[in-house]
Amino acid sequence: AVSSEPTIPTVPLSARMRESLRAIVGEKGLIEDDHGKQPFVTDWRGLLVGGAGAVVRPGSTEEVSKVVRLCHEHGVAIVPQGGNTGLMGGATPWPAHTGIVLSMGRMNRVLDVDPVGYAMTVEAGCVLQTLQETASQHDRFLPLSLGAQGSCMIGGNLSTNAGGVQVLRYGNARNLVLGLEVVLPSGDVWDGLRALKKDNTGYDLKHLFMGAEGTLGIITKAVLKLWPAPKDVCTAWLAIRDPRAALEILSEAHAASEDNVSSCELLSRAAIDLALRHIPGTQDPLKADTPWYLLLEWSSARARPEGTEGMSEKMEQFLTDQLEAGHVLDAAIAQTVSQSRNMWHIREAMAEASRAEGPGLSFDVSVAISRIPDFIDKGLEAVLDILPSIRPYPLGHIGDGNLHFSFMGPTGMDQQTLTQYKAAITRAVNDLVTSMGGSISAEHGIGIDKLDELNHYRSKTELDIMRTIKRALDPQNIMNPGKVLRL
Ligand code: FAD
Repeated sequence: AVSSEPTIPTVPLSARMRESLRAIVGEKGLIEDDHGKQPFVTDWRGLLVGGAGAVVRPGSTEEVSKVVRLCHEHGVAIVPQGGNTGLMGGATPWPAHTGIVLSMGRMNRVLDVDPVGYAMTVEAGCVLQTLQETASQHDRFLPLSLGAQGSCMIGGNLSTNAGGVQVLRYGNARNLVLGLEVVLPSGDVWDGLRALKKDNTGYDLKHLFMGAEGTLGIITKAVLKLWPAPKDVCTAWLAIRDPRAALEILSEAHAASEDNVSSCELLSRAAIDLALRHIPGTQDPLKADTPWYLLLEWSSARARPEGTEGMSEKMEQFLTDQLEAGHVLDAAIAQTVSQSRNMWHIREAMAEASRAEGPGLSFDVSVAISRIPDFIDKGLEAVLDILPSIRPYPLGHIGDGNLHFSFMGPTGMDQQTLTQYKAAITRAVNDLVTSMGGSISAEHGIGIDKLDELNHYRSKTELDIMRTIKRALDPQNIMNPGKVLRL
């Protein structure tokens, strides 16, 4: 994925250090055999495999702090890991890595739920879906929602500043946080676990660690914001004229729903077919043969009072108007929870479906919402010019200007052959996105995969600021070395 492997510290784990680690985390917290380490050194896509002296699984902030301090004293590198569902290789060690993978899965306690203050204090190893369920048990809502929610962990979500399907309304992961606790590369603990909405006391340090992909420290706890639980939800599946119509629909949906649009996902027919082909139990919500679709959801925290118009009625009226305007060609409103789940299942299983289909390329990019149709037209032209038989299946969080500009390799082409086209296609896509004022990584981060791309597209000034911060906090470069930045 990158031109050359970056230089990383490769101090091996000595027998004495292994003993010290065992004394801190116990026998169960230390994995040293190759078979046990294998899932922690392989990325979700199965594309990257790294090295590790050991996997360490601490059970408390105190243990994380002791482990990190020990590594700091010996110059041993650390790769923090949550659910290992990241798509850029940030949680996968480099092959030359001889230090530890620090896996947060044992730190999985919900420490406090405050329904009155709309806040929840949690450990970093809590699985996202468990936190959504906990909030719901208190009649509250944690809006972070993504396809990997059954296995990704909140520490990983915050470290990648994850997006997902409700950013449009609630913002991305960093907007859902009031406070953080972080173990710094020295082993010191920064206690910023404050549940305050207002706190203008100098630099807002928590934002340094969110989106840093584990390069500046280890997030051990967080105070998350909660919202009122949705009580009236309507999900609809729309066959639409084209991506330009999607923007018309979205812009009018805000007012028509009384500002209750919670998701707006664009899907190409090819993307839907991919999910239907590979994900058991999915059904096509609409038998239409058009190239573009929208998954639109409106939700309100107000239960629909008897005899009044709720989200469904408002959606129905809206879709009738949009049909008349020619933006919508056909539509289905979910009548049951299982119909709504099926629609969401298709959207959220996309990463899994593409993995099952075979070799592919995917670009997680963003441009201003209004420029998405233009980007799609020009981007497809540029990529098909390089490899005419590549199979596009674009989709994305169109409400956030975030496109997963995705392609399956030509039928029968193996990974190695497709990789020969990767550099040229990447350059074409990222040049285009940059020329349109967009970002080469909207929500998945940089990790290993986009190391060279960040270096190529960000200014020297911007890279210098990032390197200065990194060196100030981690002068030995032991914290997730060789990720995000080349030092
Ligand atoms: P990991 O993969 O374990 O780690 C990710 C990065 O964070 C690594 O750099 C790691 O070193 C660092 N890290 C992990 N935990 C900590 C910690 N406690 N402290 C410091 N650093 C840490 N992403 C989106 O944004 N939106 C989506 O819609 C989306 N959909 C997805 C769907 C599927 C099916 C899959 C497989 C992935 C999807 N992703 C999506 C990507 C991924 O799920 C997110 O990036 C997620 O936030 C990663 O969480 P994780 O716990 O798996 O982190």
